[in-house]
Amino acid sequence: MSIEAQCVIAVASGKGGTGKTTIAANLAVILSSSDSVCLADLDVEAPDCLGYFQHAIPIGQPENVEILVPFATSSHCEACSFCTKLCRFGAIVAIGGVVTIDTKLCKGCGLCVMACPQGILEEKPLKIGEASTFIEGSITIVEGRMNVGDIRSTSVIEAAKTKASLQKTKYQIRDCPPGVSCPATHALAGSDYAILVAEPTPFSLHDLGGAIRLCKSLSLPCGVIINKDGFGNADIETLCKNLNVPVLTRLSYGQDRAVQGARGVLWDQDDETSKNLKGVLLNIKNQFQQKNDPRETPSERLEAIL
Ligand code: SF4
Ligand code: SF4
Repeated sequence: MSIEAQCVIAVASGKGGTGKTTIAANLAVILSSSDSVCLADLDVEAPDCLGYFQHAIPIGQPENVEILVPFATSSHCEACSFCTKLCRFGAIVAIGGVVTIDTKLCKGCGLCVMACPQGILEEKPLKIGEASTFIEGSITIVEGRMNVGDIRSTSVIEAAKTKASLQKTKYQIRDCPPGVSCPATHALAGSDYAILVAEPTPFSLHDLGGAIRLCKSLSLPCGVIINKDGFGNADIETLCKNLNVPVLTRLSYGQDRAVQGARGVLWDQDDETSKNLKGVLLNIKNQFQQKNDPRETPSERLEAIL
């Protein structure tokens, strides 16, 4: 990591609905009190960080995110089936010399184009989403948004990550997609630390285990925030202990807090919770220092706010 690189903290969760976006938005606000922050909304299927920044102003035009999909340039298909056998997604069919490509299923890998002995397959761009930039105060918000009905989220996530990394901010907070599949993996990759948000329910307990294992497989240090503490009695703490992952803090459950979240109200007037989240950042900084982590930049950058 270069000295100019952002300190990137990803906020993720094994399951949706744990409060990950709320925590990501509030961490961005806390960091923005001392320096510039980019909040990257990588939950591209349902981006909603902007709900917390209703005065955000768009900067420039949205950037189209495209993949290259094949098309047949002639009807001289020999029906050799090379393309259909290679395509893992069943997106291309060649019957009786007629090639049909389902661009909704195509992932744009280009294998069929390379393999076609007749050279009749070429590629053309297909828009699958957008990456946009907004600004509110000292917070830059980069939002990835997939086209409605599309399933190719990873290219949109990578485009939003690139856009976020180009912002000249010291910090980057990522709001990651929930789960442990490809979208979450792409969103977590390249970050310095992952905050995993869990609620004390059986579903969340189960899915948190998967999220921790995903972070470990990426060699990504992580810690857990238990949100909605008191909402259920699943033993998140014991799971964390068994998997050797720190519990960073507990945030209590309250109906008024849930209503505020639905209305896009930040916690900046809530001294207790703000203090709690600052403590989380301090904890992360200490973890970097204790491990003598060679990535000094995150620790130094976090120093400034604590
Ligand atoms: S580009 Fe890849 S995914 Fe798309 S049709 Fe060809 S082999 Fe299938
Ligand atoms: S690889 Fe080319 S020639 Fe063979 S079936 Fe596909 S499109 Fe036709």
